[in-house]
Amino acid sequence: MRISTVALLALLSLPLRAQTPVKLKVDATDAARRLFHVQMSMPARPGPMTLLYPEWIPGEHGPTGPIANLVGLKIQAGGKILPWKRDSDNMYAFHLDVPSGAATLDVAFDFISPPESGGFTSGASTTTELAVLNWNQLLLYPKDSQPDTFQYQATLTVPTSWRYGTALPIQRESGNQLEFQPASLTTMVDSPVSAGAHYHTFELGSEQGASHYLHVAADSDRALEASPELIGHFKNLVAEAGALFGAHHYRSYHFLYTLSDHVAHFGLEHHESSDDRTGERTLIDSDALRASGYLLPHEFVHSWNGKYRRPSGLVSGGHDGGYDTPMQGDLLWVYEGLTNYLGEILTPRSGLWSPEDYRDSLAETAAELDNKYGRTWRPLEDTAVAAQVLYEAGSDYQSLRRSVDYYPEGTLIWLEADVAIRQLSHGAKSLDDFCKLFHGAPSGPPALKTYTFDDVVAALNAVQPNDWAGFLNQRLHSTSARAPLGGIEHGGWKLTYDAVRSDFWKAREETRKITDLTYSIGILVSNEDATLADVRYGGPAQKAGIAPSVKLIAVNTRQYTPTVLREAIAQTAAGAKSLDLLVKNGEFYQTFRIDYQGGEKYPHLARDPATPDLSTAIIARAARK
Ligand SMILES: [Zn+2]
Repeated sequence: MRISTVALLALLSLPLRAQTPVKLKVDATDAARRLFHVQMSMPARPGPMTLLYPEWIPGEHGPTGPIANLVGLKIQAGGKILPWKRDSDNMYAFHLDVPSGAATLDVAFDFISPPESGGFTSGASTTTELAVLNWNQLLLYPKDSQPDTFQYQATLTVPTSWRYGTALPIQRESGNQLEFQPASLTTMVDSPVSAGAHYHTFELGSEQGASHYLHVAADSDRALEASPELIGHFKNLVAEAGALFGAHHYRSYHFLYTLSDHVAHFGLEHHESSDDRTGERTLIDSDALRASGYLLPHEFVHSWNGKYRRPSGLVSGGHDGGYDTPMQGDLLWVYEGLTNYLGEILTPRSGLWSPEDYRDSLAETAAELDNKYGRTWRPLEDTAVAAQVLYEAGSDYQSLRRSVDYYPEGTLIWLEADVAIRQLSHGAKSLDDFCKLFHGAPSGPPALKTYTFDDVVAALNAVQPNDWAGFLNQRLHSTSARAPLGGIEHGGWKLTYDAVRSDFWKAREETRKITDLTYSIGILVSNEDATLADVRYGGPAQKAGIAPSVKLIAVNTRQYTPTVLREAIAQTAAGAKSLDLLVKNGEFYQTFRIDYQGGEKYPHLARDPATPDLSTAIIARAARK
């Protein structure tokens, strides 16, 4: 079904390890108690054997397989318990001896789905009303098996009356039991299942012969009541992605959209689906929708950019023998950065954002990167190389750390490339042409085509000759204090600041429960407990001596509220003499005087009449009605 060239050669030259699929039974009826029960019946040969639990999870760019939550492991052959021993170096490997005469191993374990909201798929994934299952958490595979050819035949039991969605083809359904068609390890890991008591599947239409579905699992029925207009925007997204790439690399596509305030919030891409998770009321609350509008477009783009086309260093499982192989993230500014840009322009093209929302989001991205001390020590490329540790790093001192900036700075760099192509070709070409060339025809089932830096440069040059290697290298290795704003400026807009919060900014503050004063006094306050989630390095508050994580108690002797603080900051522009903050640092109270006179400041893009407006052309609808 999905046999890559390398795997095919391996298949021809090595003895076949598993013609008989592993029978994999997952009982998810205890999902509300965060327990999944797993039984596997696996073909085996007498002698030493090593079973692996997936460690490097595709799309998570790090060793995030939640091995600590695999419990109750029991392995038997012919009804007899076999002792196993975990490898002393590799926590994901279990060694055992298969006795003579045994042709099958019976493996059982439980997986504890965690309650915490951090992490990606290893974060909270169940409530009493719903569950998201990722097969990489629910299976083991023999070391040295080829993920593209090693087969599983899975059955899944979900709680009674729950409904479900997945890209994994189903052979048979009866009651709350699902039997899937045999699928390779690669396809299993790539095909999560969502299920729940409050569930609705919206059909998003067909594009070039492939069907598209939006499966929504939520903590309430009310949360499923998306307006026909909103569903129309998701249908537009399918059409706009079709117009952008001109071909697809899936049999059908399934958005698995989970709406809950009690699961981890993120998106994770797959070839034929995406695991997208936001707050419960996202589809019925315009602020929540505005703040996360880019999420489904981003994950959908990954089917082309990330899954079909992937940097060779980010292939795990597909080619080289398993999910125990470390990934190399140095091209994540393409994998994630280009996806970020394309997802953000597909959002207004689909109607999920207004043009103003798009520009307000871009202004926020530009301001964030243009006020980041960390860019003077860490070149962008290092954020990509270090991705496997940065996702888990602390969220304080962001401006000093400079974390996974290949996402937002990818947006700026690829916008600049798009604008440059449009200008150099006098409007004849755009980055859409690059997408058709690099990610497009022919359409077909999931396939993997790896690339290098030179391949990206060659494809850009095929669309529009330019010194693209120089263009990219300069931006990847720069330690300039200023962000690359050329795409915004040459596209006819300027980054400005004023005292007015945009609708996008307010929606973001509301949804994330923050008061964001990053560009005035340089603090980000968490509304739930009044702690400083962050302090901008080099900003007025940091210069006054304030650190992240302290609790804000009072502003100019009055008890802190977001309104009291905003008004006090506004007063500084009207000549107020001082701005004093009383904070609690551990058990100790401290007062700091902030040297600041600028009033409230929030970023915007303003039209520059001296330069033609390319930005509006970039976000204009491209698909035919
Ligand atoms: Zn992504």
